Amino acid sequence: MSNQDASRFAGSAHSPIGAPSSRLTIKQMQAHLDELAAETGVRLETWDGVPEATARLVTTDHGLPAVIYNKPLRNRHQYLSGLHEFGHYIVGVRGRNRAYGLRPEHLVDEVAAWVWAFDNSRVEITETLRVNVADTLFTYADDAGANSGNDYYGIDAVPDDLRAEYVAGLVRLGAISIDPEGGE
Ligand SMILES: [Zn+2]
Repeated sequence: MSNQDASRFAGSAHSPIGAPSSRLTIKQMQAHLDELAAETGVRLETWDGVPEATARLVTTDHGLPAVIYNKPLRNRHQYLSGLHEFGHYIVGVRGRNRAYGLRPEHLVDEVAAWVWAFDNSRVEITETLRVNVADTLFTYADDAGANSGNDYYGIDAVPDDLRAEYVAGLVRLGAISIDPEGGE
């Protein structure tokens, strides 16, 4: 246990209720996702026997309940992935049809759904989780650039009119920091 973990542990008895914890059990994480499902009416399903599948939100225009598929919860990242999908549902999905893959105009929704997940997480967002999410986002950006057939990747792949919102989200997630001098 690092010193930082030790001090966190010592203080945990006095944490305000609802404050993110470094000591949440898998059961507690699952309970949170179940609560969100009950609150939103989203059906929560677990991928079964599809090891390569990632979490996803499936919505329809036909009045059927939305479904969030997630892996069986085994760690905090999978919990955050589940929260991210609820983030998509709650924040709103602007780029709905992804039949042709992730495109640059979807990136701003991705970042918004992660911001929602971080803001609502009951587990403390550690540096490892933060880096993990930042890597995921940069991979999305590269894929979106490639799918759109242009040579841009990363932040440059995001359309001009969405870029400021996208960058602000990255900063909130701690995925990038902005040079106070305003340089690039
Ligand atoms: Zn997403």
